[in-house]
Amino acid sequence: MAYSQSEIRQILDSENVKFLRLQFTDIMGMNKNVELPVSQFDKALDGEIMFDGSSIEGFTRIEESDMLLKPDFDTFLIFPTLVEGDARGKVARLICDIAYPDDTPFPGDPRYVLKRQIEKLQGMGFDNMYAGPEPEFFLFWRDHEGRPTTVTHDAAGYFDLAPVDKGEEARRDMVNALVEMGFEIEAAHHEVAPGQHEIDFKYEDALTTADNISTFKLIVKRIAINHNLHATFMPKPVAGINGSGMHTHLSLFKDGQNAFYDEGAEYQLSDTALHWIAGLLEHAEGMVALTNPTVNSYKRLTPGYEAPTNIAWSASNRSAMIRIPARRGVGTRSELRMPDPACNPYLALSAMLAAGMDGIANRLMPPPPIQRNIYHMSVRDRRKHKIRELPGTLREAINALEKDPVIKSALGEHAYSHFVEAKRQEFDAYRVTVHEWELDTYLAEY
Ligand code: ADP
Ligand code: MG
Ligand code: MG
Ligand code: MG
Ligand code: MG
Repeated sequence: MAYSQSEIRQILDSENVKFLRLQFTDIMGMNKNVELPVSQFDKALDGEIMFDGSSIEGFTRIEESDMLLKPDFDTFLIFPTLVEGDARGKVARLICDIAYPDDTPFPGDPRYVLKRQIEKLQGMGFDNMYAGPEPEFFLFWRDHEGRPTTVTHDAAGYFDLAPVDKGEEARRDMVNALVEMGFEIEAAHHEVAPGQHEIDFKYEDALTTADNISTFKLIVKRIAINHNLHATFMPKPVAGINGSGMHTHLSLFKDGQNAFYDEGAEYQLSDTALHWIAGLLEHAEGMVALTNPTVNSYKRLTPGYEAPTNIAWSASNRSAMIRIPARRGVGTRSELRMPDPACNPYLALSAMLAAGMDGIANRLMPPPPIQRNIYHMSVRDRRKHKIRELPGTLREAINALEKDPVIKSALGEHAYSHFVEAKRQEFDAYRVTVHEWELDTYLAEY
């Protein structure tokens, strides 16, 4: 909803809101916020609240640490009581852009990175990119001290109608809270693995969707706590069962029409759609560090668990990295199946946009779609079809990002260098750790 500053000021008063949260995300995609009491509301709406950027992951060095929070009035909402019990008064929030003290945008702000890519797309004559995510997550018990476990008592499966358990109860509260906050929920269901759930919400323009994903994660985690559960978006919390992905459906619109749809063309896909697909394929390796940003992400991207491992597209088959759902007309879209919900949604969508736009700008054409199940194809067959493999570890993914000038420049020097540095450290910390598996395998043997 679009509000003006004075309208928001009035609502804060008339609803008797006691706290205003200014939200933003760091380079890792973590939600950050500053919570302000009534006396600071005017200053907050004027965009004059300062915070220390050097204490935020991937932002700045100490020398240039003063940053301003510039609220985006379109993101105003009051949290439902399901989320924030109103014993201490109502809580509202605004998502913010980040600026230097002289009001110039801070280039390391992930939201700014995405805005720049959207502007570039609009410069190419498109209205916007629309994105619809399908985030999956696990609900686990907490132990006596409130620490998350990986224990679930639920043994339900995909779309199961087992008696309602604690997980289902929590999920209904999540859906109710999200609906109250203006989300249009299209589906909510149990997923394949025990304790795993999915909640799908309606596609929106890229920036709104990125905002929605970060709000979604916040709400899901918050409501899980009310049920003494822990919600995790960790991509592969339990070995041997499906991990959590976040399939992302993408389309471009031009003059109010879906630019991927062409009734008379092969597959009814326009040239724009084919170039777009080719761009996503071309930059898959370079993009994956953004869409799948943790060490653990690559434990999901293994064969046999409904997650893609190969760089290919298909008009139907769900084993490919890109699937084109059967829907045509305004619903014509590409579904990218490797992203996981640990990604920073702003940076991940920026990478997707940059990849697709490069395909369009260079009129790249994709190879023919693969209609067979890629998991069942031999290595030789895959080679014949020139199907490449996705990077298998975070390190390979970072190396691929470093070799992709298109994705690099989409992030901009600031976000790029901080992201790569943090991710290299993350991988190194993992690499020097002696894991349970190594002890089980080697300790007695050698
Ligand atoms: P799946 O078959 O993979 O489960 P769904 O049919 O559940 O996929 O669709 C998932 C997402 O696709 C939803 O978020 C929906 O809003 C989104 N979607 C629908 N049309 C478009 C479009 N034109 N552009 C982008 N996303 C879209
Ligand atoms: Mg779905
Ligand atoms: Mg679905
Ligand atoms: Mg799913
Ligand atoms: Mg899907």
